[in-house]
Amino acid sequence: MHPVMEHDTLDLDLLQVPEPSAIREWATERGILILAHSYQDGFLQEAAHFVGDSLELARKAAAADAKSICFCGVHFMAETAKLLSPEAKVFVPDLEAGCSLADSCKAEDLKQYQQHLTEKLGQRPTTVAYVNCSAAVKALCDIICTSGNAREVVESIPDDQPILFVPDKHLGGWLNETLGREMILWNGACEVHELFSVETLNEMKAEYPAAKVISHPECPKPVRDASDYVLGTAGMLRLVKGSHGETFIVGTEANMIYRFEKEAPQNTYLAAPGASCACNLCPYMQMNTPEKLWHELNVQANEVTIPSELFADAQQSLQRMLSIV
Ligand code: SF4
Repeated sequence: MHPVMEHDTLDLDLLQVPEPSAIREWATERGILILAHSYQDGFLQEAAHFVGDSLELARKAAAADAKSICFCGVHFMAETAKLLSPEAKVFVPDLEAGCSLADSCKAEDLKQYQQHLTEKLGQRPTTVAYVNCSAAVKALCDIICTSGNAREVVESIPDDQPILFVPDKHLGGWLNETLGREMILWNGACEVHELFSVETLNEMKAEYPAAKVISHPECPKPVRDASDYVLGTAGMLRLVKGSHGETFIVGTEANMIYRFEKEAPQNTYLAAPGASCACNLCPYMQMNTPEKLWHELNVQANEVTIPSELFADAQQSLQRMLSIV
């Protein structure tokens, strides 16, 4: 038995954690695939077999035909991996690592609102859900999208069909602006992206006049309007990899810069400041630590499961997206 497994109540602070590459090798030998979201800290990114956004990672997991997946991210991401890799055991370093955006849209509230809109409009609106939502919400929706493919997903729906977009009002607002749609928006937001402030961003732009601003569509409209590019994380990565000698002010979770510096070191990256805090780190992502990862790899106790009555509907919403983009 591995030493970690001998302790029921382990003091994680006292755990001797191997180097990231040693963790990865250890996991490989045991057939465990480690996935890390780009918003995880550098240690977890280095320990992972793949780093990416939630959908990229779920796809990697499905393609790898993994039997065992340790997902370093937040809960809805691990659920997405489970939906696309139903045979795999999916577990996470911390089951409490949630997401304010996903939490802003509860399945029971969504169901009621869908009923209300159906009565009001005289027809059921198509519900499009950003992937940052629970499996229970995915099961109530018609189709899922990511920040990278949201435009294509919305454009696949006929112009005269009413659409309810959940849960992110900023991403939905950006889609309405850029596509000329009038989707009904759920009133949800990411607490990290909502903290970006156009006032502090403009101060930073004045300090670095040659810098280009890239912001995530989860940012509020004034921040998006003050940006040179509005892109999801995959689009940001493509942009910086194709740029040389540029300075970018980055309006998304600050750990994304670790990945930029690793994969596109030819540029300079500055984290866009928040209204009251300079860090812009997601507190839920930060709940995953090297100690918790190492412990969980050994014990595999934090399994993520999806109730059987939700599974097929949630999976179908994801598959509809995958069939068009
Ligand atoms: S950054 Fe925002 S949307 Fe992403 S996990 Fe954290 S709270 Fe959720």
